[in-house]
Amino acid sequence: MDTIKFLGTGGTRTPTQGTTCLHVSEHCVIDAGNLINTFGSTIFTIEHIFLTHSHLDHIIDIPFLADLFVTQKKVSLKIYGLKATLDDLRQCIFNDRIWPNFKEITLIGHTDKTIELIELELELPYHVDGVTLTPFKTDHTEGSCGYIIEKNGSGVLFTADTYRCDRIWELLDERPYLHTLITEVSFPSAFAKLASNSKHLTPSLLADELKKCNRDNFSLYIMHLKALFMGTILEELAVLELLRNGGKVLVDGDQIHYKIP
Ligand SMILES: [Zn+2]
Ligand SMILES: [Zn+2]
Repeated sequence: MDTIKFLGTGGTRTPTQGTTCLHVSEHCVIDAGNLINTFGSTIFTIEHIFLTHSHLDHIIDIPFLADLFVTQKKVSLKIYGLKATLDDLRQCIFNDRIWPNFKEITLIGHTDKTIELIELELELPYHVDGVTLTPFKTDHTEGSCGYIIEKNGSGVLFTADTYRCDRIWELLDERPYLHTLITEVSFPSAFAKLASNSKHLTPSLLADELKKCNRDNFSLYIMHLKALFMGTILEELAVLELLRNGGKVLVDGDQIHYKIP
């Protein structure tokens, strides 16, 4: 695959928009907010899910995927995340109360368990299908991370959900080959307090954060808008001129090239 496909880009589920889900290589996605409705019969090609954190809009399709895979797959579905994120899956989802414990349920006719949880270490590279994913700490939940997503020496920085976070701007400065930043804006600027409490960004908070960066030669893409505030946020982004170098507010189905064509 030459592109990253955005299967879900919303901060809320609506009839026309799913939540965070990026198809980064043939067998790998980041987050599972919109897998079942977008993959159709090719869903069984998914082998790896890298999580940014455990909020419901990022994990919601994982239980249904385990349910589909248990009778159809030969090897475990591998789910990667920081420790606190995986602990949440163990304690709150696959606990034989909300959903069966598919960590211990064996695939029918095979020896592997249905799912396998794999703990990531921050700032270490992980390789899948020729793509390298490097998790970095964000400020959203205890186990939250973004990813540097690279292929053939070119790549993008994906923050997923975050509040103010210095590491984003350090990484962009340290790695000039990153040509694109994909980050979030969830609320209009008037909701700064709500954004701070829920650890999200507004257009004016993002404008402030951008001042920390010494580069301006990257494209800026934005996602995770709360659907109710779409119009206001788009107006504010336009006034602040944040969508630089061809960037845009992402919608489901958009793609970004690993290498700038
Ligand atoms: Zn979140
Ligand atoms: Zn979210």
